[in-house]
Amino acid sequence: MEQIHNPLEIIKRIISAGEKLGAHKIKELGVVETGSGTCPIIKLSWKSSQEFPRILLSAGIHGDEPAGPHAVLSLLESWAPSGTPKIQELNLDILPLINPSGFLNKTRENQFGIDLNREFAKGHPSKEIRLLMDFLRNRTYDISIEFHEDIDAQGFYLYEHFPGQAPPIAPEIISRLEKKGHKILKDPVIEGMPAQNGIIHPTIDRRRSRFRRHGWPEAIYMFRHGTPRTITLETPTFRELEDRIEMHKLAFATATEHLFLRS
Ligand SMILES: [Zn+2]
Repeated sequence: MEQIHNPLEIIKRIISAGEKLGAHKIKELGVVETGSGTCPIIKLSWKSSQEFPRILLSAGIHGDEPAGPHAVLSLLESWAPSGTPKIQELNLDILPLINPSGFLNKTRENQFGIDLNREFAKGHPSKEIRLLMDFLRNRTYDISIEFHEDIDAQGFYLYEHFPGQAPPIAPEIISRLEKKGHKILKDPVIEGMPAQNGIIHPTIDRRRSRFRRHGWPEAIYMFRHGTPRTITLETPTFRELEDRIEMHKLAFATATEHLFLRS
């Protein structure tokens, strides 16, 4: 996939792919400034019966991590109609591009220099996050999956917070990525947290102390508001866009299949 640089263009393509896949609702949560115009923040939803998994997928909260929104686009454009699960069998909400100004300007922060993934505990967060929180306020999911990239990492890694009584999904994700030849970051410490085989299982206490200083990220917000499992995927920016897209898609497929087969 050729890289798209304009947020309006990638959103247009995501909407068109969503329509083709029969999205039940495609909604503008609001409109934000990008520095050279405005851009909507959108969400797409598929609704299924209650016993099927409820999944939130979000991407593009950091503008210099284009693989996330591109992976959402690719995921929708390539969803196999006969695959398992079918998209119509999921309760799926997608927030494909949370930071349009950062995407346009290729910056981690929005156009006002704010890291949107540290805004979730604030009384007066940035407009992007206010729109998200208005949407998420009374919604809980079985899982929240976030697409990120790490510009320094030499391999893929992920964070998973999961309920104690259920098994983690992360080892399955790592194993499937390795089988496809993707390199995993195996450092014993990643981003200051103990890691094993590319997996960080942050305890909430540790996260609380860590993030009390820096501000809440989306994953903590989701967990604290009743979503028991959060997975944050970090693909290595030094790899080709195509490879990062594949890593995100494979990890997403692994997580949804895991939940679907157990639902
Ligand atoms: Zn990020």
